[in-house]
Amino acid sequence: MESVLRLPGIYYVVTIDHRRLPFSLEGLRRYRGTAMSKAKRRYYRKRVDFFRLLIKMKLWPSRSGILHGIRSIERKGPYAEITTHCGHVFLATTSKNSRAARWLRNKWAFKACRACRVPDWKLEKYSKTFFAQHYGSMLEEHGSGDSPKE
Ligand SMILES: [Zn+2]
Repeated sequence: MESVLRLPGIYYVVTIDHRRLPFSLEGLRRYRGTAMSKAKRRYYRKRVDFFRLLIKMKLWPSRSGILHGIRSIERKGPYAEITTHCGHVFLATTSKNSRAARWLRNKWAFKACRACRVPDWKLEKYSKTFFAQHYGSMLEEHGSGDSPKE
């Protein structure tokens, strides 16, 4: 099993060519001007529908701390059938309280899967994606989903 990197307070994702991209806001501040693209920050609600979030992000954090790229995803009742670029097919619960949902929100995955070849731009986009309690998109199908309703 590949080792999982975790430094207190700062979360990184390790790219397939062993560079580290900062994940947290603190990490972004420290690394400002290096490695990061000009991509703007995006925010999603913490309670955003997990299935829609997966469709949007196309990333899957495995239990071993590896971030896989999602090739395809299909809803099957309360589950999603996910196929990764490295060829794994599995059913995952789409509950927003699930392990994977929490890991994706909290960025508890530290290494990009080599076999999936997750591109840097996608990792950078993820590193600039944040989840907030009362702010951000709910990814709703009707309307923009971005306007505050509560
Ligand atoms: Zn993979």
